[in-house]
Amino acid sequence: MERGSTARDLGPKLNRSAGDVVRFLLLQGEMVTATQSLTDDMIELFAAELGAQVRLVDPGEEKEAELLAKYFEDEDEEEEREEDLRPRPPVVTVMGHVDHGKTLLLDRIRSANVVAGEAGGITQHIGAYQVTWQDHPITFIDTPGHAAFTAMRARGAEVTDIVVLVVAADDGVMPQTVGAIDHARAADVPIVVAVNKMDRPDANPDRVLQQLAERGLVPEAWGGDTITVQISALASTGIDDLLEQITLVAEVEELLASPEGRARGTVLEANLEAGRGPVATVIVERGTLRVGDPVVAGAAWGRVKALVDDRGDHVKEAPPSMPVQVLGFSEPPQAGDELRVAKDLTTARTLGEARAQRFRLSGHLPALSAAAGAKLEDLFEQIQRGETATLNLVLKADVQGSLEAVTESLRKLERDDVKLSFVHRGVGGITENDVQLARASNATIIGFNVRPDRRAREMAEASDVEVRTYEIIYKLLEDIEAAMLGMLVPETEEVVTGEAEVRQVFRIPRVGAVAGCYVREGTITRGSKVRFLREGVVIWRGTVTSLRRFKEDAREVQSGYECGIGLSDYQDLKEGDIIETFEEREIPRT
Ligand code: GDP
Repeated sequence: MERGSTARDLGPKLNRSAGDVVRFLLLQGEMVTATQSLTDDMIELFAAELGAQVRLVDPGEEKEAELLAKYFEDEDEEEEREEDLRPRPPVVTVMGHVDHGKTLLLDRIRSANVVAGEAGGITQHIGAYQVTWQDHPITFIDTPGHAAFTAMRARGAEVTDIVVLVVAADDGVMPQTVGAIDHARAADVPIVVAVNKMDRPDANPDRVLQQLAERGLVPEAWGGDTITVQISALASTGIDDLLEQITLVAEVEELLASPEGRARGTVLEANLEAGRGPVATVIVERGTLRVGDPVVAGAAWGRVKALVDDRGDHVKEAPPSMPVQVLGFSEPPQAGDELRVAKDLTTARTLGEARAQRFRLSGHLPALSAAAGAKLEDLFEQIQRGETATLNLVLKADVQGSLEAVTESLRKLERDDVKLSFVHRGVGGITENDVQLARASNATIIGFNVRPDRRAREMAEASDVEVRTYEIIYKLLEDIEAAMLGMLVPETEEVVTGEAEVRQVFRIPRVGAVAGCYVREGTITRGSKVRFLREGVVIWRGTVTSLRRFKEDAREVQSGYECGIGLSDYQDLKEGDIIETFEEREIPRT
């Protein structure tokens, strides 16, 4: 049944009349008419009464399922023919604790290969790249850490075949190392351990192996089955050995795919690029993707205009496990979307549009299966259940220094039963991308001296992502600590009351600077609290002391109008800056 069905829809599906449904609900104390939308509970109650099982779907979902069945069923049932199966390169994700050397390792592997390959090959970051080790191609996902991995899994996409776990030999197993192990295990993906920073005088690989063994990763040297390799990303030693071990694991895993038939793959990342339109990086899982193929991924559809590989070269086709940028989509698909080649463009379009309609009707982005991790509000509940609670965070700050400081302080709050996992850390305002990431990994967004832009704020509200912003570090720490103790009281919540864009800044003798603004949202009121934002970063906060409209003092100015805002203490505003007024309201704990 579609959500929001009426008694008239529901009755006949169960061989009853609309009247039967209405009467039954009346007896349960629910008064509805035959043409009124029923709640999920009502539909389930009636079905249960008749001993029927009901599955509730979002409007449009059924249509989409029908289309999928109609267009792709034959293909879905068709197994890849055994004689077509060929070994395919493994897809590798590098994980580990922050600063243990993931990024440097990925850079080293990549550049070593470029040098070995064609001289002067230009590399392009498309989210993944492929290298060849002694005739064995290996695909590396370019975003280290388990954030992307988790986000993909949350969408039901599992592209990673092997996880390389980087552990710094001087630092040992740290919280995110443990997190990475958990993620890899949850996905049932084999782990190859790279003990990094072996060049360091204080490197202690034995301690690392000991710590890993304590967590069930017993090294081969000690009779276990975990492959460990000692490397130094800095000195570029041991990297050959690591690549060899990866190919060996890949052989054991028997990764096979048929390059025949219409391609299927997974979208790794996608965005809109000036001059190129929607661009999606895709890893093909089976079949071969070709220029000219009609494709659909999520609600995006189109004909493949061009395929670009990780060196920036145009290619005609992409076989299994090869990462390519796909140009020609109607809009950027979402990371984790499945890409399918349809039999023709009409099919791709019909399916894409059916999905777009479903997303619109259900008012949210495609459904996600629950990701691991707790929201700030449910953290305590999880702790009480005796589980190790993991608080997933997306942390954004105004500058690198404060990002590091906040990270450090947060880490100190970690306890045996509460782990923090940074899904993403970065400098700058809170963007839609952050919200998407938080949504996919069930994370809370923490902003330090930064704010969400309007689109990010709207998206967070629509997708129920918690965004907390702070300007004082101890307030932030206090809240996280309180959440761990189950005493989180969001005593006040800031409500944005108005937003104005600075169009021009005037200097008036004896008055000082006045910002000529256009009120975009809400109302700007004299006396209200205000902050100035540049690219989402808070640059000043204070009070609106003077507000003018056409040379007259004004008490308030509403959206759609222009006004002058006097800048008493902060004279440095520029065109394009945002003036945001806000109010603090008490919010009751639910
Ligand atoms: P990530 O956070 O795991 O991606 O770590 P990075 O790759 O950014 O590395 C963190 C820091 O460790 C950087 O300053 C690197 O230069 C340094 N580093 C990485 N690998 C090695 C290594 O093998 N030896 C030494 N001495 N330093 C390393």
